[in-house]
Amino acid sequence: MPPHTAASKLWKLFCKTAATIKPAVSFSVHHNCNLSFLWDPWCNMGMVADLIEANRNSHLWVKDFISHSRWVLPVSLPGPVKDTISKTVIVGEGPVLFWSSCPNPSNKFFSAFYHSNLKSVPWFKFIWHKGFALRYASYTWMAVKGKLKMADILISRGIVVAPSCSFCLGNIESHSHVYFECDFSFLLLTALFPDMVNFYLRPNLTQVFDHFGTVRKYTKTDKNLCYFTVAVLVYYLWRERNNRRVSGVWRNPDELKRVILQAIYAKIRNWNHYDMLKEIFGQILG
Ligand SMILES: [Zn+2]
Repeated sequence: MPPHTAASKLWKLFCKTAATIKPAVSFSVHHNCNLSFLWDPWCNMGMVADLIEANRNSHLWVKDFISHSRWVLPVSLPGPVKDTISKTVIVGEGPVLFWSSCPNPSNKFFSAFYHSNLKSVPWFKFIWHKGFALRYASYTWMAVKGKLKMADILISRGIVVAPSCSFCLGNIESHSHVYFECDFSFLLLTALFPDMVNFYLRPNLTQVFDHFGTVRKYTKTDKNLCYFTVAVLVYYLWRERNNRRVSGVWRNPDELKRVILQAIYAKIRNWNHYDMLKEIFGQILG
């Protein structure tokens, strides 16, 4: 039934969700089913309410029109509507609602269908993994999307700021430069992940995340630690950039690395398998 204009937001959301999943579900009618006669789409994948103008039966259930497994329809119903309903098979006891593509649906199926119109974001796992911390994840999400207020963006909007990178002073500040073309940020990245020196060209942020995702020997927890560490690095580089620009306070790479390691330890020490992680990632947790 369409929600009343005065209905609560929750009920309107409930009705909207039901309408959205309608193509993915099917109904089965049995003699005792509690589907709404008018408003549930059990009749040839549609609602009886769409076939008739009067809705005097809006309070009745489908089971009210079944007797001894046969349809007993009111004489007031138009002939074609009666014919359509009569063609609906009445089965024995059982569920009335089925997820069309799967006999054992779970919330995962519902979620995939409900959000199927949204664009796939394969990098979400780099940010919103099991061990994320909102403070670091939100800044990293903005960095991946290119939404931090870097000098090149501000200048393109007509805002007057110093164009140079606050770390090396020799390049235009941009997302790709700060993460991680810049000598300063790349030095910190390789201090945390020594293998990164093997990149032929300096990686950008997405390439760094992608790299960890492809290391075969890493477990899911190992990868999450890498993703988390990168997020902490992104956040503290951004803070350092702001401190330098706004307060004129500078930290050298060693000091900044110490702050980053403390922040990582403060969170990771509560993870399961901390001791195992410490063995693998000694340069971060040692
Ligand atoms: Zn730089």
